[in-house]
Amino acid sequence: MRQLGLRTRLTLIFSLVFAGILVLIIGSSYRILKFRLDENLRQELRERAAGLRGYLRFEDGKPRFEYDVNDPDEAFFVESSTRYYQIFNAATGDLVDQSHELDLLDLDTGPQFERAIKTHEIFSDAEAGAVRLRFYNEIMRASDGKSYLLQIGGRRDFMDAALKQLLLIAIFVVPVGLAVAAVASWWVAGRALQPVNLLAQAAKEIGISDLDRRLPLRGTGDELDRLSVTFNDMFARLAKAIGEMKQFTASMSHELRTPLTTLRGEAEVMLLQPHSIQEYRRLLASHLEEYDRLARLINRLLTLARAEAGDIKMHPESVDLAQLTRYLVEELETVATSKQVALSIESKGPVNIEADHDWLETAILNLLDNAIKYTPEGGHVTLLVANRGSERILEIRDTGIGISADALPHIFERFYRADHSRNGHNEGAGLGLNLVQWIVEQHHGRIEVKSEPGKGSCFTVSLPAALA
Ligand code: ADP
Repeated sequence: MRQLGLRTRLTLIFSLVFAGILVLIIGSSYRILKFRLDENLRQELRERAAGLRGYLRFEDGKPRFEYDVNDPDEAFFVESSTRYYQIFNAATGDLVDQSHELDLLDLDTGPQFERAIKTHEIFSDAEAGAVRLRFYNEIMRASDGKSYLLQIGGRRDFMDAALKQLLLIAIFVVPVGLAVAAVASWWVAGRALQPVNLLAQAAKEIGISDLDRRLPLRGTGDELDRLSVTFNDMFARLAKAIGEMKQFTASMSHELRTPLTTLRGEAEVMLLQPHSIQEYRRLLASHLEEYDRLARLINRLLTLARAEAGDIKMHPESVDLAQLTRYLVEELETVATSKQVALSIESKGPVNIEADHDWLETAILNLLDNAIKYTPEGGHVTLLVANRGSERILEIRDTGIGISADALPHIFERFYRADHSRNGHNEGAGLGLNLVQWIVEQHHGRIEVKSEPGKGSCFTVSLPAALA
C-alpha cells in the first residue's frame, strides 16, 4: 500500500486527537451533568419529605396535611410538594392516599410498594407513559401506632430531556468540530512543511556540475536549518570526492599517455629509415621494459581500485616479520649492489605477527624499493625489525636524497611525486606509498616518516601483533 503523505498523516493525527478530546469533554460533561441533576432531584425530594412530615397528621388511619392556608409560602410548599405523593399502609400494602396527579397517571402502585418495602431503597423510579418519576420513600410511624410508607415524587423526564439535548448538541458539534480541525490541521501542516518542500526543491536543483552551491539557511537554528547544514556538508564532501576523482583521472591519463607517446614516437622514427638488426633489437628491448612498467602501473591501479571498492579481504596468518624481511633483503641485494648501495638488516630473534603474508610482503618491498631508488651511490639502507610490547616495528632508514618539508605531507597521496623524483627517477608513478598506507591501515597499524633533504629518510611501520 502506498504510504500517505506527511501532510495527510499530520492532518489525520491532529484531527483524531482533536476528535478524541472533544468526545472526552462531551462524555465527561454528560456524566457530570447527569450526576448533578440526579443529586439535585434527590436533595429536593429529601427536603420536601422532611418538610411535609411536619404537616402530616393521621386521623382514623387517614392522612391529612395541616397548614396555614393563609400563609402563601406554606401553602405553596405543601401543594407543590404533594403533587406526586402517595401513602401506603406499611403492614398491608393498601394505598391509603394518593395525589390527584398520580391518580390521573394511573400508576400501577403494587410494584411501587413491594420494592420500597422489600429493598428499603430510599429512592425508586417509576414510569407512566411519557412521564417518568422518582420517589423518595420513608417508613413512618404515625400517632395511631401504625406504620405507613410515605412516597414523595418528582419528575425525572425534565432531567432526561436536558441530557438528551446535550447529546444532540454533541452529535452536531463533533462532526463540525472534526471538519474544522481537519481543515485547520491541513493548513497548519501545509505551512509547517512548506520550508521542507522549498529545501527539497533547492536540493533538487543542485546538480553534479554545481556542487559548490549551498542551500540557504533561514537563521532560525531549528531542525530545518540543521538539515540544510547537513546537506551542505554532504555537498562539500561530494565536491571534494568528485574533485579527487577528476584529479585521479587526469593523473592517470597523463601517466598512461606520456609513455605511450614516447613508444609511438620512437617506433615512428625507427620506421622512417632502415636500421640494423642490432638497433631494432635495442629498441624492442627498451620497449619491452616500458611495457613491463606500464603493466605494473596498470596492475597497481587495478589493485587500488579493488581496494577502494572493498573487494580485497585480508587473510591473516602467523608470519615471522624478521624472516620475511631478511628474505626480501636478499632478493633486492643484487639491485642494491648494482647501485652501490649498502643494504643491512638488524633483528634479534623471531618477530611474530598475525598478518596477511602477501600484502605485508608488497608493503615491505615498496618501502625497500623506494629506499634503494632514492639513495645515491655509496649510501646505506638499514632495516630494523623489532618487538615493542604488543606492537611489531619495521623501520627502513636510508641516507638518500630525503624529502622536502613541503612534499612530506603529500607523499602518501595517489600519483604524488616530489619534484626531484619527477626529474631524476621516472619509473615511479606515485602509487607505491598510497598502496603501502592502505595495507598498513588494513592491519590496523600506522606508518610514520621522518626525512631531511640531503640526509635521508626513515619510514616506521607499527603493526599490532594480532590482527583483530
Ligand atoms: P614513486 O613510485 O614515485 O616512488 P611512491 O608513492 O612510492 O611513488 O612515493 C611517492 C614519492 O615520495 C616519491 O615520488 C618520492 O618523491 C617520495 N619518496 C618515497 N620514498 C622516498 C625515500 N625513501 N626517499 C626520498 N623520497 C621518497
